Formats: sequence, structure tokens, C-alpha cells
Amino acid sequence: MKALMYLGEKKLAIREVPEVQGSFVVEVLGAAICGTDLKTYLKGHPMFKPPAILGHESIGRVLRAAPDTGFTPGDYVVTAPYGNCGQCEMCAKDLGELCTNRHFVPTGMFVERFAVPEGLVREGVIKLEAYDKAFVLTEPLACVVCGAEKIDLKPGCSLLVAGGGPMGALFAFLGQQSGAEVMVSEPNALRREMLESMGIPSQPPEEVDFGQYDRAAIAVNLPEVVTEVIAGVAPGAKINVFAGLPSGSSFLTDAAAVHYRAVMVTGSSGFALRHFHEAYRMIGENPAAYRQLITREFPMEQATEAFDLLAQGRTFKVMLKP
Ligand SMILES: [Zn+2]
Ligand SMILES: [Zn+2]
Repeated sequence: MKALMYLGEKKLAIREVPEVQGSFVVEVLGAAICGTDLKTYLKGHPMFKPPAILGHESIGRVLRAAPDTGFTPGDYVVTAPYGNCGQCEMCAKDLGELCTNRHFVPTGMFVERFAVPEGLVREGVIKLEAYDKAFVLTEPLACVVCGAEKIDLKPGCSLLVAGGGPMGALFAFLGQQSGAEVMVSEPNALRREMLESMGIPSQPPEEVDFGQYDRAAIAVNLPEVVTEVIAGVAPGAKINVFAGLPSGSSFLTDAAAVHYRAVMVTGSSGFALRHFHEAYRMIGENPAAYRQLITREFPMEQATEAFDLLAQGRTFKVMLKP
């Protein structure tokens, strides 16, 4: 079967790989390119040494399943790329996103087929009522659901999302769906236009009145933006540093904001399986809104073009089709 192989910075190629083994196999119908995939493509990633198969956001069809799994070949599914164990110390504290013993889908999802380990099938695979590409966003939205929980996002909040890329847009959708008032701060005019067309209000950063917001999600990996948001948000605000900053990097924190104004700074990455299920439910509530985020689809053979387009910030989510 074929796979999209990451061979090093800005090098991708279709390669023949051994047919997948396992009792539960999913045929990929589409897999979306994530910020992490893009980062890896552009400048490498310590977790993905080439040659490697990237991709972890997919929508597919069950090809092979044991009868006792509750799945039948032909079922449309979304699959979590990993799941928390439910047993470790972190899971016991309901911090499954920090699980120390995750079950993983053994390969990336830019492939024709992948196997799901037994420990992940029951909770990590969700059957769709019908094919809808909106659900390819279940995994990234699961990360956002987890992130929103960290800052206690609820009706009546005012949420500032710094960064209007795909994750920022997902955070904005979830905020709106949760009954918060949402504003995205984004310097790129083209992106603001795309956000507006999806019903997401946005402003260039210099026009944002930070003091109006009691919740913030930083969806851009610029430490100076974190500093600016901490200094500016409303007293008692809760901030999620959601974009990945390289380990060892730092941001300056206005001490008075933390002490005198009780601004809380936290962060999150990844998700627990309960967030994955919640994301599935949220997309099901309003698939049309989420569907507009998948702005392009490309055959896997044209992956380089797709990655380059994303690198230029000219599109939101791109789905590759094997
Ligand atoms: Zn665990
Ligand atoms: Zn992702």
C-alpha cells in the first residue's frame, strides 16, 4: 500500500510500504494536515525523525473488525491517534491528556490503511452516522475542548483568541458554541477576511482592547504575544498558552498582572479520550460551521503543493486523500 513519507525538511514522497497487519484496520478516506505536520515539514521535529509517516487527523472506513468490537466493515469512523490508559496516576486525577501510558495508532495517517491497537478500539474509534468531512476535525477540536476546559470557558465569558490560524478558528467556533463572546486577534488581512466569512469576528492586534476579555487562548507560537496578553487582559482572566513553544523558550510575565490582578496562566496540549468524544458531539451539533474550515482537498500525490499552500497561510485546513 502507499504512504506519504516525510523524508526530511520540505521533502515528501509517495512510497510503497508493507501492507498493514492487525485485527482492526481502517481505510483512510481523508487525513487533514495539522500544525505539527506543517512544522515538521518546514523545519523538522524532534519527535518525527525521517523517514516517517505524518498525519493524525483522519476520517475513514472500517476495513476489518472482529465482531465483538461493535464495528462492521464499511462503517465510517474517526479514530483518535492515541488514547489515555485510564489507569495511571494522571488518568486517576482526570488528567488523561497527561497520561503516561498512552495507546497509540502505530503509524501516521497519511497512508491508505492503518491498524488500531486493541486497547484503543473501544473508546478511540467513533462510528459516524454518515460520511461528513467535518469530522476530520475531531482530533484538533478535542485538543481545543481540552484547552477550553483549562480556562473554564462558559456562557457569558468574553474570549480573546490570539492567532487566526486553523486552531485559532477552531477555538473561536468552540467559544461561540459555548456561549462566549469571541474576538480573534490576527494581523493577516487575508486571514481576517476568511474568518469573517465564517462568522468569526476578528481585529488586527493593534486594535484589540485586551482589557475587555476574561478568557484568552494563545494560538500563535510567539512568546511576545503571551506577554502582551498577560499584561492586558481583564482582572481575574484565565489564559491558555495553547500554541506549542519550543522547550527551553520563555516568555516575560508582568508580575503585577499575576499578583494584583489575579490573572491565571496555564496551557494544554493534546487531549483525553473524553475530549475526543465531546469534540465529536460538538461537530455533530453544527457540522456546517466546522465543514467550512476544510478549505481544500488534495490527492496525497500533491502533498507538497498542499503543505506549501498552508505554509503561506493561504488556506485553513487541507485534507489529503490517499
Ligand atoms: Zn493514563
Ligand atoms: Zn492535530
